[in-house]
Amino acid sequence: MESLETELERARELSVAELADAIESIGFECTRCGACCKANDPPEGEEGTKEPHTATVFPDEVRELQGAAEETFDEEYDWRDAARPMPYGVSEGEAGPEGETFEWALQTDACGDCAFYEEGESRSDSERSSDDEPRDGGTGACTVHDSRPLVCQTYPFSVALGGTNEPMGEAVDREGLVRAHECEGLGRDISREEAEELAEALKRRAIRELEEAIDLRNEYEPRPDVEGVVVHDSEGAKRPDGTSLDRR
Ligand code: SF4
Repeated sequence: MESLETELERARELSVAELADAIESIGFECTRCGACCKANDPPEGEEGTKEPHTATVFPDEVRELQGAAEETFDEEYDWRDAARPMPYGVSEGEAGPEGETFEWALQTDACGDCAFYEEGESRSDSERSSDDEPRDGGTGACTVHDSRPLVCQTYPFSVALGGTNEPMGEAVDREGLVRAHECEGLGRDISREEAEELAEALKRRAIRELEEAIDLRNEYEPRPDVEGVVVHDSEGAKRPDGTSLDRR
């Protein structure tokens, strides 16, 4: 695999017009089904519990979500109201969850749906103009639509560069460097303007993900001395509540 720095250079050189061509060719229109904000059903024909919604968010995005939610709901939003440690690497120990993990996932509710997703018309819906639809409305909506993270702004697409993240759902189509993930809105007509907007966000996201991956790698220092869960992100090692652990 190319180095993260090489992939970052490639991301910075991505042509928005070419990404937009690929998005137009694949086609997409949000049907407002909400599937990309909710827990995943077990695979067809298989029994089991739903898999909680898991989408990566970066520290600055968590803070932005906290601020947006506080403004929308006029109440305090703790770091843990917005984000949870990425579950990979965390296990249940004798004294509770333990282990080291990388990055944060959007917080989920008791049903495993994104904590910012609301069934029915959300409070922020009533303030939104009719041409500014939430991508996940219909039966529900994103309560922080204008501040939703890049991974949400660009769903169901991702860029096939090493070191970038893929959203939940398998890649089902690919056009050049643009991958499309499971979504019922794929294959529908999209205007050039919307395709370009999505392409711009997709490029921003690829750059952001690679910058984060490089900073995370540079900051990483294992912390076996700390009990419980340690989350490593581009700003260093943190507790699950987002506070920094002092460097040794
Ligand atoms: S932040 Fe908003 S758009 Fe993103 S998963 Fe949650 S409800 Fe959906």
